[in-house]
Amino acid sequence: MNEQETHTGGCSCGAVRYESHGKPTRAAVCHCRYCQTRTGSAFGMNVYFEDSQIKVTSGELKEYSFSNNANRHFHNRFCPKCGTTVFWRIEMRPGWTGVAAGTFDAPSFWFETDEAVQIFTRTKAPFVNVSFSDSHETAAYYSPTHNDHPGLMIREEQPLQSFDLIAHD
Ligand SMILES: [Zn+2]
Ligand SMILES: [Zn+2]
Repeated sequence: MNEQETHTGGCSCGAVRYESHGKPTRAAVCHCRYCQTRTGSAFGMNVYFEDSQIKVTSGELKEYSFSNNANRHFHNRFCPKCGTTVFWRIEMRPGWTGVAAGTFDAPSFWFETDEAVQIFTRTKAPFVNVSFSDSHETAAYYSPTHNDHPGLMIREEQPLQSFDLIAHD
């Protein structure tokens, strides 16, 4: 683990601090309504690591769990003092920890974005323009508007409605 690059980050008040080791598995700009409400911003900048790559070095996190209308489970982990959601887990990605990229110490957006995607563009704010070549109206594993990466093939076994969060507008 010590050979890998290490980055640090934390919540707004500094009570929660963490380290990441190595490169993330995935980076995504997510325009879904959950990311918009979680952040209060136009989109979530989300990076995913294997659980073992993330170490909480101080502070305690509280968890808020919920299910969406497709009955998928989400577990947000936040600082109870300042309310920053730092991590989350999603049912779709067992063994992965999602990290809110804005919580990394500067330079916050250090990770490589060659494989980055933007997802749930159906609820993208009209003034947001993201330069990632992979762009998906919903989740990355079905109905891609572009599919330049062979690793992002549509998974046939996923029913189309399984992650179809966006019926709001
Ligand atoms: Zn805090
Ligand atoms: Zn999202």
